Order: sequence, then structure tokens, then C-alpha cells
Amino acid sequence: MLQQNRCWLSGIAVAGLVLAGLTCRPATAQEVAELIPEYESYAEADFVSASRGTVKAKMLGSKGWYLAIEAPPGESPSRVTLNAKDQKVLRLLALRGGGRRLVQKGDSIDVIVPADGVGWFFLYAPFPDVSVYDYQPKTLFKLADNTPAKAKYPVVDIHVHLALASPEERLKIMDAVGVALVIDSPLGTATEFSYRRFEEKYPDRFLTFGNVNFSTRFDEEFPGDVIAKLESDASSMGVPGVSEVIDKGSGVYGHALVPEPRGNVYVDDDRMMPLWRSAARLKLPVLLHVAEPIWFYEPIDGDHEFLRSQAFGFRWSLAGTDVLSRDEMMRRRDRIMEEIPDLVVIGAHMGHLEDDLARLGETLDKHPNFYVEMGVRHAYLGVQPHTARKFHIKYQDRILFGQDGALNAWQYRQYFRFMETDDDQIAIRFWEPKLYGLNLPDEVLKKIYYGNASRLFPKVKEKLLKLHPNLDFPE
Ligand SMILES: [Zn+2]
Repeated sequence: MLQQNRCWLSGIAVAGLVLAGLTCRPATAQEVAELIPEYESYAEADFVSASRGTVKAKMLGSKGWYLAIEAPPGESPSRVTLNAKDQKVLRLLALRGGGRRLVQKGDSIDVIVPADGVGWFFLYAPFPDVSVYDYQPKTLFKLADNTPAKAKYPVVDIHVHLALASPEERLKIMDAVGVALVIDSPLGTATEFSYRRFEEKYPDRFLTFGNVNFSTRFDEEFPGDVIAKLESDASSMGVPGVSEVIDKGSGVYGHALVPEPRGNVYVDDDRMMPLWRSAARLKLPVLLHVAEPIWFYEPIDGDHEFLRSQAFGFRWSLAGTDVLSRDEMMRRRDRIMEEIPDLVVIGAHMGHLEDDLARLGETLDKHPNFYVEMGVRHAYLGVQPHTARKFHIKYQDRILFGQDGALNAWQYRQYFRFMETDDDQIAIRFWEPKLYGLNLPDEVLKKIYYGNASRLFPKVKEKLLKLHPNLDFPE
């Protein structure tokens, strides 16, 4: 054995005692070459140093470097600290020798060099620092794509912002994908504007929610004015409900980045409650967008579950702002439902509890007039397809179809693909997680697509029957 060839026992006698020890000589270049293949092509390494002995390296393409460590030989294996500057994570493979941990964060890592003094390791090149913006993986998987051209049953889309869209363009898209009706929530425009532009022209296909003007919310006349307006919209245009009202934790009509010196008017403010009471009295459901997805509140760091989504949707992040928490906003929304049990509340975007469907279920159980629509939450329902499928089946009478915005045909079809098929890795917007289809039973689809909306909005049922005289309405 090499060690035996290179080490010898020596001793000296001191005052009648014999002190003995093993003395070793370092391996010659030829001896090292017998242990490490291609050793002659190794060169002095300048990017890595050893606490004891020398390091020579040989590069292997972009993968990394072979390292030959020559340390003083001894009786037993010895620890050598390797230092490779400017690497965030050191990853080594021990080819000859070992180490307690061969993956380490930081510049240095301890390796164990065999007693003969010759260690051989592979140091992996630094893993590329890919920016979250550049991380746009292209799948290599060959997966089924059963995207339906049209939804299986007529669809009523209850969360839409048509704004200045062309009615004819919208109809073309609706026809192409099987959307029978949409109910517009005028946000930047007013009820009358949307009504004249869409519903009056194509009464069988468009409906218009009554829009509330919150810009006057600090006026004393506000509650009376908006109630009077809602009543007149109901009688003149037959609005089927109240347009999306948004309170992301900085009050209705508020913005997280715009301080309101007069104080925020939250969705359950005393100035708002009369409006909700009137809506209940007029039997007008309200589409309430309260709070935001839970991950919008998360600090932007490596722990963020949907970092890519947040990077591309950074303007929606609420981290670092002083908006009210998601929980506080849930309490405020629930308070409205407790105080006005007759009011039908449609929680936009799964009521912003898509991360906790058990809690959403409890809320639905507690408030029989609470409904949700899934607008833009398919991505986050689709990362939990087993839980989401059970939820949709259990609460099939309480979920409505909505998408938020004004989608193109492809986007609509991805919703239908998500609900109707069991396709894997459904890609929607490129920065969002891939989703997994729910493959919902027909009876459930019928309810979500049109049945529940027909129950909540008598006008919807009337119009649907004109379009589809033989449509069966699930109980
Ligand atoms: Zn919306």
C-alpha cells in the first residue's frame, strides 16, 4: 500500500522513554498520476485554494472542475478547507476522499483528504443566477390538449368589464366559445353608457349591472343619492344587480398607494350599509371584490410561493402597504352578510379564499346567500385540482362563472378546458402556474355555467330561454 511505502515509524529515546511517530513523505507527481486519471493535464487553480496543501484543477466544459488536492500525508484522513471565492453555493462530489457536507452555502467547504494526502473532487460550476423575469420554462412534456372550441353548455359570464369594447367584437368571441350572456360591471364607465352601448343594442346577449358612483362617498347625501340611483336604474333599465364593488383594504374607491386624508370608507362602513340594505330590498345581488389573494400580502423574497406571478404582477402586490389585512377584510365582508342576511353577495374571485377552500366552505355554510365566482382564480384553483374538484362538487349550487375583464376566445377556452377536462399543465398567462383540469361532472358544469346565474338573476333565465328554448335548468 502506498501509505506503507511513503511512511515509516521513527522514534527517539528521551530520559528512558521512547517517543515514536509516523513520518510520511508527500506523493511524487507520478504517484499522484497513478491515482488521478489525466493528472498531467491538471493546472494550478487560481479560483480555489486549500487550507493545507495545493489544489490543481482541470475544467470539464461548463459543468465544473476536477480538483486534485495534495495535502501532507499522515496517519489518518485529514480535513482540508477549500475556498472558492464568489460562489454562493459550493457543490462538490468526492471522487477520492469525502466530507461531512459537500453542499454548502458560502465561500468555503470542508473536505476530507485520504491519509495518503491525495484527494480528488469535482467542483460543480456555479448554478446560473436566472432572474425570475427570465425564468419562462418551455415544457418538454407531450401532454394531451383537449381544449374545447366551445363550452359544453351555454355560459353566463357574470364578471365582465366591457368598458369601450366593441359589442360586435364581443359577440363574435361569445359565439365562437359558447358564451350566451355576459353581465357587464361598468367600472370606468356608467350604467347608462354600458346599457345603451351593449344591452339596448343586443338585449338577448348583454346585461348591465347598476354601477355605484363612489367618488361622492364623503358627501352627506351619498347614501341617499346612490340608493335613489340604484332604484331608478332598476326601474328604468332593469339592472339585475350591483356592479363589482372593490375594496382591497383601502376602502371602496380607494387605492393602496393613495392616502385618503378624509379616511377610508370600507365596504362595511356605516355610509355603505344603507346601500346594501336597499340592494337586499330590491333583490339585487352585489358583486363584491373584497381583499386580494393571500399571496399579494406576502413579502417579496425567496419564500414567496408565487414569486414569478408576483414579479409580473408587482403593481398588485400589497406587501409593505398599510391596507387592512385579508382577515380583517373577510370579517368586514362577513359582517355585512350577518347584518343583512337577505342580501345576495357574490364574492368576486372565489371571495379571495382560494388558498383556503375549507374556510371558504365554512363561510358558504354560514351564509346561505353567499356565492362566489372564479374570475382569474382558475390558476390558483388549478394548482390544487383534487381539493378544488371536491369543493366545486360540494358547492356546485354556490359557484358562478365569471372571468373579470373582457377575454379573447383562447382565454375563455382555457377556463372551459380547466373545468371540463382532466388535462395536465394547462398554461394560461405565461407567468402563472400551470393548472390541472377539474374534469367536473355535467350536472356541476350546468350549474356553474348557467344554472346558478339563472336562479339568482330572473332576467338571465328569461334571456337564456329565448336563446335556448329547450335548455334544462338544474334544480
Ligand atoms: Zn372585476
